[in-house]
Amino acid sequence: MEQTEKKIVKKKKKTRKLKLVAKISLVVILILLIAWAGVGIYMIQHKGNTVKLQEKGFAKEEIQDIQHTLREESIETLLTYDYHKTIVNIIKEKDFQETLLNRYLDFLSHYETASAHDIVFLVNHDQDKIAYTPDIHDILNHKNFQEKNLDRYLSYYQKYELDGDKVIVAVNSDLDKEDIVLDDTTSLFLGRTYTVKANLNRYQKYYQSHKNLDIDEIITRVNSNLDKEFYTNTQKADLSKGNLIIVNKFYYLSSSYVPSDLVTISSSYGRGQVKEEAYNAFIKMYNAAAKEGLYLYISSPYRSYSRQKSLYNNYVSKDGKAEADTYSARPGFSEHQTGLAMDLGTKSNHSIDDFEKSKEFVWTKEHAYEYGFILRYPKGKEYITGYIYEPWHYRYVGTEVAKYIYEHDITYEEYYEYFVK
Ligand SMILES: [Zn+2]
Repeated sequence: MEQTEKKIVKKKKKTRKLKLVAKISLVVILILLIAWAGVGIYMIQHKGNTVKLQEKGFAKEEIQDIQHTLREESIETLLTYDYHKTIVNIIKEKDFQETLLNRYLDFLSHYETASAHDIVFLVNHDQDKIAYTPDIHDILNHKNFQEKNLDRYLSYYQKYELDGDKVIVAVNSDLDKEDIVLDDTTSLFLGRTYTVKANLNRYQKYYQSHKNLDIDEIITRVNSNLDKEFYTNTQKADLSKGNLIIVNKFYYLSSSYVPSDLVTISSSYGRGQVKEEAYNAFIKMYNAAAKEGLYLYISSPYRSYSRQKSLYNNYVSKDGKAEADTYSARPGFSEHQTGLAMDLGTKSNHSIDDFEKSKEFVWTKEHAYEYGFILRYPKGKEYITGYIYEPWHYRYVGTEVAKYIYEHDITYEEYYEYFVK
């Protein structure tokens, strides 16, 4: 009895096993069938697209490239466009993005001469609305092209319709920021030592009436405001520049301006008041000169607005306005009001008029810069400074700036416009 029961149980187990195997097999077969159908459909589609690409005019190698790079659905998109040999080059571009295929091909269909590189670059940067021209091509492929400037190149080009080379030069020089058109005249002024971009339009204008002048001379003159008359286009001096403030025939101080830290000069060094920092620098200079047996004297330092006013008015009544203007500043326009300027004499002769003939002058002329002073109104620069040569007038600007001005033989007008303003 027990044996028969065992047999029945065994049989039942066997039947269950068989059923399971059959089920699994069925599933496997189904999966294989679906896969086979898929591959089949794919093959048919693939084969179909190959034929269609051939019909479009693509060569065998081109079709290989296309099928190697694109998914079938992209190929179907591609098939809705006409054949163009640039299409394959677009696909091969290293920044090619399959999701943008439509836009590349749209752009190409509008501009058949566009290069694959230009198309991919413009579309990738959302610039496919641009009217493509050979100049755009020159811009994108220029050796000085900078990707970060793309939008600026394109808008400068659209605004002025200059050739690609000019657009690159102009934008790389930030001319677009100042709204300056780059023409043959502007180009003359680019890349010069003291070119101030904001002045380019003024250089251009000045050049028109001074074509005989050297380009650097035009830059010097315009930077020094010489394209304007003295005492015209005047503006308030920029007090925020501290020791580097400029006061001349274009920049003035208000009648109420008094420097904040004036100190009284000890009678061993001179008379009157100057700004403390300039005073300390002077004492150093004085001591260095004294070691050589030379003794400087500050004859005329800080002058108030009202003092300058009475001085100037006296000169005007004596010599007339035109003459007075060559050696005396109008009130508010005097550097002496800054507290940073001083007229020098010697200890034995306080007269500034005799200073040039002294040994002290010979020494000061060569060494003042080491202590932060510049000869403010040099010989030969009268037309720039607006003042006659003043061997006695020194201005404190600090040692670094004084050294530069001394070594480069420029006026403070030029220095200020280029480095300080
Ligand atoms: Zn002076």
